Amino acid sequence: MSYKSVIAVIALISAVFSCKSGNKSDNSSDRPSGMTFTREELTILNQSDSVMYLTVIGDKSDSLILRKVSRDLTQEELDSPEAATLARNLLATVQDPSQDGVGISSPQVGLNLRMLALMRYDREGRPLQVYANVHIDSLFTNVVKGPEGCLSIPNYRGVVPRADSIIVSYFDFQTKQFKKDTVGGYTAIIFQHETDHLEGILYTDRADTVFFNQAWADERKLYEQHGAYTKPAWWPY
Ligand SMILES: [Zn+2]
Repeated sequence: MSYKSVIAVIALISAVFSCKSGNKSDNSSDRPSGMTFTREELTILNQSDSVMYLTVIGDKSDSLILRKVSRDLTQEELDSPEAATLARNLLATVQDPSQDGVGISSPQVGLNLRMLALMRYDREGRPLQVYANVHIDSLFTNVVKGPEGCLSIPNYRGVVPRADSIIVSYFDFQTKQFKKDTVGGYTAIIFQHETDHLEGILYTDRADTVFFNQAWADERKLYEQHGAYTKPAWWPY
């Protein structure tokens, strides 16, 4: 996802937006153990180098990946070199080429694994962070509406209602620790957009309006030029 423009809050509505209980906690005991990467996942994990191919909703096999619920990584997988490669490549992909990306999720690079990278606007220096096994535990009831776009839906933008703050659980890839975090503002919007990807949900499912946007289409041309939208010959799907 790339939100080049700072989000414009169109409306702040106190609405009934029921709290949603996450079905997973930060307790690692409910995850499977061992290395369970599929052959297809290993192909992508081992063949990708730096900027990864971006799945798009207009491609049939890509859309199946974008619409699937992603799974948690096991502790062994979190500690594996493959996961470290994925973390590095997610960062490379979201920052390519103009460094205006603020978030990306694994299904967008062909993997139904619960990992994402996003910019922490709520932290000094706005660092891009990688999190795994991300689950939103609670959505607060204040709803804000703002513009969103998605790397996997080129040329379009939409106006999307989101909770203005959330409680989220994740494995922090930087510190190698599980955390539960209360997040607000723009960072909460990005968390919701990217975690939706892990549930097979796209912003267009939640948007009030979706519209063609020439400026957004022009931005995506840069990704095309870098080959991010060109499916590699070795791609397993
Ligand atoms: Zn997106």
